[in-house]
Amino acid sequence: MNISKHITYAEAIKSQQAIRMRLSNEPTPEHLDNMKYLAENIFEPLRKHFKKPIAVTSFYRSELVNRAIGGSLTSQHLQGEAMDIDAQVFGGLTNAEVFEWIKANLNYDQLIWENGTVTEPDWVHVSLTRRRANRKQNLRMSNNKYYTI
Ligand SMILES: [Zn+2]
Repeated sequence: MNISKHITYAEAIKSQQAIRMRLSNEPTPEHLDNMKYLAENIFEPLRKHFKKPIAVTSFYRSELVNRAIGGSLTSQHLQGEAMDIDAQVFGGLTNAEVFEWIKANLNYDQLIWENGTVTEPDWVHVSLTRRRANRKQNLRMSNNKYYTI
């Protein structure tokens, strides 16, 4: 089963913490629909534009997994509404290019430049919701603090 053309179900629910602690990381049907919506409207257009493999390093997180990693209680990963992208995994593309392309071309709720430097984030967090209007918020996360950019 696939979430979208280029994201497998296994990849979307994979969590090192879940594996280590033998925690379930299965989305509900509603969360699965949110994941498909995000994948179709953000990941696939991005993938189509750059025509290169792009790694999704974290997508769905169940409450058990989120608690184990000390994640925020309001994290959109819990709803299947957020994914972390790391273009450095396969290379040929930077995370800064991913960030700027999403910002210029897509609708989204939050786009976060995660850690790294001013020229390249360590990864990009992007979310999209169907529950309310999307905010198109651009943030930078550094030392666990969020700054509007
Ligand atoms: Zn994230």
